[in-house]
Amino acid sequence: MSSGPEQQHGPTPVARAPRHVAVVGAGMVGLATAWFLQEAGVHVTVYERDRVGAGASWGNAGWLTPGLTAPLPEPAVLRYGLRAVLSSRSPVYVPLRADRQLVRFLASFVAHSTARRWRRGMAAYVPLNERALEAFDVLAAGGVAAPTRRAGSFLACFGGERDARGLLTELEQIRAAGQKVDFHLVTGWRARALDPALTDRVNAVIQLHGQRYLDPPGFVRSLAEAVRVRGGEIVEGVDVVDVLPRAGGVSVVAGNGERQQHDVVVLATGALLGELATRFGVRQPVQAGRGYSFSVPVRQMPRGPLYFPKQRVACTPLGDRLRVAGMMEFRRPGDPLDPRRITAIVEAVRPLLTGVDLDERRDEWVGSRPCTPDGLPLIGATAAPGVFVAGGHGMWGIALGPLTGQLLAQAVLKGETPPELAPFDPLRT
Ligand SMILES: Cc1cc2nc3c(=O)[nH]c(=O)nc-3n(C[C@H](O)[C@H](O)[C@H](O)COP(=O)(O)OP(=O)(O)OC[C@H]3O[C@@H](n4cnc5c(N)ncnc54)[C@H](O)[C@@H]3O)c2cc1C
Repeated sequence: MSSGPEQQHGPTPVARAPRHVAVVGAGMVGLATAWFLQEAGVHVTVYERDRVGAGASWGNAGWLTPGLTAPLPEPAVLRYGLRAVLSSRSPVYVPLRADRQLVRFLASFVAHSTARRWRRGMAAYVPLNERALEAFDVLAAGGVAAPTRRAGSFLACFGGERDARGLLTELEQIRAAGQKVDFHLVTGWRARALDPALTDRVNAVIQLHGQRYLDPPGFVRSLAEAVRVRGGEIVEGVDVVDVLPRAGGVSVVAGNGERQQHDVVVLATGALLGELATRFGVRQPVQAGRGYSFSVPVRQMPRGPLYFPKQRVACTPLGDRLRVAGMMEFRRPGDPLDPRRITAIVEAVRPLLTGVDLDERRDEWVGSRPCTPDGLPLIGATAAPGVFVAGGHGMWGIALGPLTGQLLAQAVLKGETPPELAPFDPLRT
């Protein structure tokens, strides 16, 4: 097995427009990239070590909320950080025995949690957020059958008006950065009246307008189906262990030693991005920010997604059940599901929801958000010719996955980075 390519300075464009591209990872980002490459007539092969949507793209909350899509490191996160080390029931959890890689990630994450850096990151997100929903419409028009749903009502719920101030300030800052976001505060009984699932412990609600949501498993399945129908191959159960850039192409090496040659490879391996990408000059660590979810039956389905910012819990109507998701646990992606986190989510929302049977849980799940220390994804060319990466979207890889695929496909095909992607250069330090 090779030790990787010689280090070069800056991305090197591939010599001719690629005709056959390998995508490693069949999550939202990899599948969307494959689909948009197919738009230009490229033949794609998607390699997936497990099965379609086996990673974070399965059990997430499915929110398509440009109004909330912002960098994760921000000054308020530091307060959670302190509490986190002290309590395993906190919505943000860092194990006391952190390894060296996690310590490095956290130190850099904390360094990025300043107002100035947040504003810079937000300015980078705005041009993506503006186009994020359009990219879903392109997929729909091109035959991806699973729908996105307009959230007639998207409610961020609080015990009282004072608790709502933090999010109101953040939304003002998001707006000040140039992001269109339409919201208003409702208090008292009027707040509760916005949704029958809210108890009298909810006394203030911020209502966000113009957001959407989707059913994550249904959507990734449908996207994979669309890729197949257009002639793409999705090879499940193949662990890619190496990628070898060579003159005239890139070889993808599977765990069983088999090699396949492609013109270009796109690494879209979620929280495991570093395993294959580091040797190609991608220095930003990608850390698993693990989240949990489960689904429960409801007497009457909420009218749209419900968000409990203080508890950091997201609820999304999925068919006839409500998906409840939350937690940010900085641990290794492969660690087993910790039932204490599920209990912590249940106990956090029990007083706030009515008509929801939190004890009839199904589909208990843990998955890894691919988090970068500066809160920005890694999208574009690496230092090796023909090797690209797409990932590190943290909390927002579902909302931004399709647009990422659309923009990255342009970069792959034209050999130059679209201007919107400049802040997400995977080679940034
Ligand atoms: C609880 C929770 C709630 C969330 N809610 C939202 C939300 O509401 N909205 C939103 O936008 N985002 C949300 N997210 C974040 C979102 O889920 C992720 O950002 C997104 O799914 C990342 O997609 P991805 O394709 O980059 O990675 P993944 O979906 O993790 O896909 C990566 C794939 O690569 C495969 N792979 C890895 N290594 C290899 C290899 N060597 N060879 C072959 N295959 C490999 C994996 O098996 C996996 O299938 C949430 C996340 C969590 C955990």
